Formats: sequence, structure tokens, C-alpha cells
Amino acid sequence: MLNIFSLARRAHRRVFYGLMAATIALGLCLTSAVRTAAIPLDLIFQGIRIIQLANLSEQQEVQIGAQINQQLVQSEFRMYRDPSAEAYVSQIGQNLARAGERPNLPFRFQIVADRAVNAFATMGGYVYVTTGLMLAADNEAQLAGVIGHEIGHINGRHLVEQMKNDAIYRGIATAAGLDRQMAVAIGVDLALRKPRSRADEFDADERGLRYLGRVGYAQSALPDFLQKLRSQRSTPAFLSTHPAPAERISNLNNKISQPGGAGLDNVAYRNQLSQFR
Ligand SMILES: [Zn+2]
Repeated sequence: MLNIFSLARRAHRRVFYGLMAATIALGLCLTSAVRTAAIPLDLIFQGIRIIQLANLSEQQEVQIGAQINQQLVQSEFRMYRDPSAEAYVSQIGQNLARAGERPNLPFRFQIVADRAVNAFATMGGYVYVTTGLMLAADNEAQLAGVIGHEIGHINGRHLVEQMKNDAIYRGIATAAGLDRQMAVAIGVDLALRKPRSRADEFDADERGLRYLGRVGYAQSALPDFLQKLRSQRSTPAFLSTHPAPAERISNLNNKISQPGGAGLDNVAYRNQLSQFR
């Protein structure tokens, strides 16, 4: 009996475009002095109005990621707050993150109560998986594969680059930079609705595959899970925001660097999930 399943519902989504319109109407504000990290986050958010995406510091990336996370958690997602489930996903994620290129980012792994099979990443270390995705995975290595892929998006700074391109395309970035509230609105939109590019997908896959190998998980689990999703009758949401599954599966299978690996015990994984409320 998987109680996690009975709690999984579609996340409540608020209308985003009203926010975008309001934010655009606010217009660009003047640059104010950059505050230091000793100041509470809320004050920093009020203090820095304009950000420079071209040379965004890691600290700023983390701060904007935290603000995007706040909006996702409060307005877009219905969170699945079972402490043992959160601890389980966090442990998998933290081990993979430590094996990555940016182990010092303050990574945070959270679960969204949603039957849709999906996973998200923002910037600065925030990763989300849905309860639907946890249930769709056959085993821990497959779940770890998706989490590793999302960490790959963060370590590759894919959303930072996409945000920059989006701001330029919309003509809302000036020589001074981009309004911070606008950056957060774009970040929320990108995380939820805009697909990553094929190049970003290949990059995140290869990074994720490396992390799986370093931690000791079976690398084959990532292409196997993509294949499983691809063969489902209705396309899972994860493949809409993470496109090109066929090419990715063959690329991943070619890049597997070590045979075998842990995390393939399907029964142990179902037992683990059944312990969540
Ligand atoms: Zn992706």
C-alpha cells in the first residue's frame, strides 16, 4: 500500500502571466549598492534591484535561487512534507551533489505532491522531484539518475544562461542589468514551463551519469528510466521539459563508463516508499 500515492495531487498553479505583466509594469529601477551576506536574505532581496547576469556571482545565484524557490513553494507547488521521505531524497541528492563540480553549493532537495512524473531544478542548488516520479521509478538508482540529471542542470548553470538569453530576447535587460523581481519571475517560468535546450539536456545527462558512477549507483538506471518513460502511452511531463529522449538514451548508453552498480533492488525501493505516510 503506497500511501505516498494517495497524497499525490496535481500541484496548484497560479496564473503566472498576471505577475509577469505587473512586474513589467514596474519597470527597471536604479541600481543600489550591493549588500553583504551578513544581511538577512529578505533585506538583500529588497536591497539589490538590478542584477548582472553576465557576471553573476555564486552568492547572487544562490540568493536568486532562494527567491525562486520561495515563490515555487508558496505559489506553484503543493509540497509533500513527510520528514522520512524528505530525508530519503535528501540523502540521495546530497551524496550525488558532493560528487559533482560544485559541491559547496547549499543544495536542497524537495518533494512536490503531484501525480505528474516530473522533476525541476532552479539555480543555486534547488532540486524538486514529484511523488509521481518517485512512484514511476523502479528503484533507487533510477530516482538517483533523475536527481543527478537535475544537479547537472544546476552545476552547468543552465538556468542562469537561459535566464540571460530570455531577458535579452524579451528586451528587458538593459546595460545596467536585469531587475531582480523580473529575474525571479523569469526563473519561475523557466523552471516550470520552458523546456531546456537539447545541448543542456545532453550536458545534464552526462554530468548526472558521472555522479551516479562516482557514488556507486548503476549508471544504466538513467537511460533505462528514460526508456521506461518514453514507452508510456501518454508522454510524461518530464519529457516535455527535458526533451529529445531517443537521442539522449543512445548517448547515455554510449557514455556508460562502468558496468554494474548499486541501487537496482526494486523490492527494497517499493518497501522504502511504503514507509512514507
Ligand atoms: Zn533536463
